[in-house]
Amino acid sequence: MGKRETMRLFLRLGLIMASMMLLAFLWSIEASPVKVAFMILLVLILIGELWSFLIHWRRETLRFLQGLASADPARLQSATGNMSQDLVLLFNQLSDRLRTLKLEKEQQYRYLAMLVEQLEVAVVCISGEEEELVLSNEAWRILTGNAHAIRLRSLEPDFPVLISLLREHRPGMRQTYRGENHSGQITYALGLSAFTLSDKSYRLFTLTDIHAAMRVGEMEAWQRLLRVLTHEIMNSIAPISSLSETLSQQMKHNLKPSETMLHGWAEAMQAIASRSENLLAFTNRYRQLSRLPEPRFAPIPLKSFIENIWLLFIHSYASSSFSPTMTLACEEALTIKADKGLLEQVLLNIFKNAVEACGAGVLPHIQVEAVLQGEMVEILIKDNGEGFPPGLESDLFLPFFTTKPEGSGIGLSLCRQIVLRHGGEIRLLAAETGACVAITLPAIHP
Ligand code: ADP
Repeated sequence: MGKRETMRLFLRLGLIMASMMLLAFLWSIEASPVKVAFMILLVLILIGELWSFLIHWRRETLRFLQGLASADPARLQSATGNMSQDLVLLFNQLSDRLRTLKLEKEQQYRYLAMLVEQLEVAVVCISGEEEELVLSNEAWRILTGNAHAIRLRSLEPDFPVLISLLREHRPGMRQTYRGENHSGQITYALGLSAFTLSDKSYRLFTLTDIHAAMRVGEMEAWQRLLRVLTHEIMNSIAPISSLSETLSQQMKHNLKPSETMLHGWAEAMQAIASRSENLLAFTNRYRQLSRLPEPRFAPIPLKSFIENIWLLFIHSYASSSFSPTMTLACEEALTIKADKGLLEQVLLNIFKNAVEACGAGVLPHIQVEAVLQGEMVEILIKDNGEGFPPGLESDLFLPFFTTKPEGSGIGLSLCRQIVLRHGGEIRLLAAETGACVAITLPAIHP
């Protein structure tokens, strides 16, 4: 209520009280009935006037709120017509604010819709029982070849499989759909988020072309591998080529070479031979990677298996002055399904890396923990070495990638191939000190 309204209200209340007191006074002195009746009439008129003032004020407030709720300029005019100045001012401020908010929301929505439209992933949002298509993008319209569908139902005759997949799909489910677009057969991975807005339920689907994502990953892997291969081959080929070129020039121009010259030539040939051997060794390692045998699975009791491999490892690694240690936490009953020979290679490689990661003066200690996790056993192998080279984590599994002067760079790559063939996974985990390699392998339940 504004200042003027409050003043008016108090004035009315004051008048009512004064006239009531006068009435009481007239009554007490037993004034003439005409005077008393007149005073009673006056009091009633004043109360009636106050009542109509309050009703008018209430009606005005209600109109204000209705006008505000509609935020419609036409209603605004009629709503403010009889309002007090304070209310009109407040009304204008609030409706301006509302209009700005509405505009901002519309702009945000348009910006978002534009982003969704640009996405290569097909996006469609379906609302309520009626399965109304409330939002879709260009990729979805290309996929369905229909730009005018309003409900999911209307796409059913042409895409019965896709529509039933969308209906059955639940958040977190892994489903794929094989469809076709202008570039041929495509496999899409389905994604879904379900949400409710203003009591209406929505299902937002995404259909991602998995091959496109895989192609990008594959290309990156190839590029990294080629970088390593080029480096390895060039390291051997470049000196061979330049040395043989020099040798052939010298031999051409020195048909009767001196003793020292012959000695130099022999050294150059020796260098060529050693480089060629490097290249040969590299090719042999490559063969080892590319001709990995198929695993022959058998149940393996994990605890004794790891203990035996450790003994084997220690036998080839330890000396009187240098003896790595290992602690093993593994339940006796844990059994995995694996190829003994192949898994032996994996663990030996990891133990070797762990020991090599300990600089001079650090006594290598390895902690192995194995735990059952549902259908899989997770084996964690932690060491007290220098840790994985920072920033190179994504390269360490690459064939021939090594940071060691005498390294071959096939250890981790071989481990990964073997573990993957077992249906497991190998990951490099960040550890506070040292490095940690995590391997999961299929478990056999007793
Ligand atoms: P190599 O041992 O011949 O270098 P790997 O493929 O086994 O080949 O390892 C690749 C690289 O990964 C190593 O050169 C090293 O930089 C890093 N690495 C592997 N294991 C460890 C570890 N336990 N701690 C630190 N770095 C490691």
